[in-house]
Amino acid sequence: MTVTTVAAYAATAPNAPLERTTVPRRPVGEHDVLIDIKYAGICHSDIHQARDGWGKGIFPMVPGHEIAGIVAEVGSGVTKFTVGDRVGVGCLVDSCRECDNCKAGLEQYCTGGGVPTYNGLDKQGEPTYGGYSTHVVVDENYTLRIPEGISLEVAAPLLCAGITTYSPLAHWNAGPGKKVAIVGLGGLGHMGVKIAHAMGAEVTVLSQSLRKQEDGLKLGADHYYATSDPETFKQLAGTFDLIVSTVSAPLPLDSYLSLLRTDGAFVNVGAPEEPVSLNLFSVIGGRKTLAGSGIGGIRETQEMLDFCAEHGFGAEIELIDADGINEAYERVLNSDVRYRFVIDTSTI
Ligand code: NAP
Ligand code: ZN
Ligand code: ZN
Repeated sequence: MTVTTVAAYAATAPNAPLERTTVPRRPVGEHDVLIDIKYAGICHSDIHQARDGWGKGIFPMVPGHEIAGIVAEVGSGVTKFTVGDRVGVGCLVDSCRECDNCKAGLEQYCTGGGVPTYNGLDKQGEPTYGGYSTHVVVDENYTLRIPEGISLEVAAPLLCAGITTYSPLAHWNAGPGKKVAIVGLGGLGHMGVKIAHAMGAEVTVLSQSLRKQEDGLKLGADHYYATSDPETFKQLAGTFDLIVSTVSAPLPLDSYLSLLRTDGAFVNVGAPEEPVSLNLFSVIGGRKTLAGSGIGGIRETQEMLDFCAEHGFGAEIELIDADGINEAYERVLNSDVRYRFVIDTSTI
């Protein structure tokens, strides 16, 4: 089979609105699957990158790393999938497979050249294009199985928002007896609340306002506070074992670290475009940990999908047509997302 041209939505330049276009997809190789994309989630990372907020963006850019679809064709050597399978693709479509991290199932920290789903170069040096598109060709080893019981549209956001919150919650042992705070109730944050609750932790949402309090409690939070109220920081000082921040903008870290109890950890997954400042005394007193966490490996992503299916939930979504992408971006930037926009890719 030769290279195919498929329909997609792309940003042609930083800050340009996304528009309909076509992109090439490679022939289905021995270990590849061709996926008929049904849904693609909109992650805030798509917006950072489409506007080149992190720098070094490759344009035209087809964002989208929360992909759910159906296998349409398999290569001759594929053993894990057959035509008709329900599958997902997250932020990674390849890695070196040889470094210590890849061997440990931590492909997201590959030191030998991981290949992001878009805004990267594949092993042949060709640009990768993401999920705002009708089809994608992916190596079977970087393709996930979406369990029966989760519909594809609410499964799509799990491929980034789900795993990015599941991974630190699992690593830092969120569970019964643990007080966990999730900062920011957006795409990642709402999954963090659901997952931490399902793990058995006592969950608090720290949001800018009380606007979404009712939703937060329905999602599984036990408590909900507004960070715009200075009383919140006084009342909750020394409370949490674990804080996971999903905030897309710089935060006053010292204030948030004061909310940890001794030996508590503040784990940042938000990826703001500007640096933050820190007074190191904020971690000295109380032997506190300030850490970061990036998505999750392939094995752990499958574990997360199975965990969500077992607990009977996906994401809370607003399904949109492709011509609504630009408006959705504005709403995400205004913290007006409830709680993930998902593109119906049949409208591309
Ligand atoms: P999102 O849906 O926009 O959610 C972010 C939430 O942060 C907002 O809903 C808002 O919640 C809060 N927020 C926004 N601006 C704020 C501000 N100035 N001060 C305080 N809170 C603010 O975005 P997302 O898709 O969840 O992504 C969140 C961040 O994580 C992005 O930076 C993204 O690039 C990053 N990310 C990182 C990874 C990783 O591997 N580490 C993976 C995916 C995404 P409230 O309205 O409740 O305050
Ligand atoms: Zn993402
Ligand atoms: Zn590697």
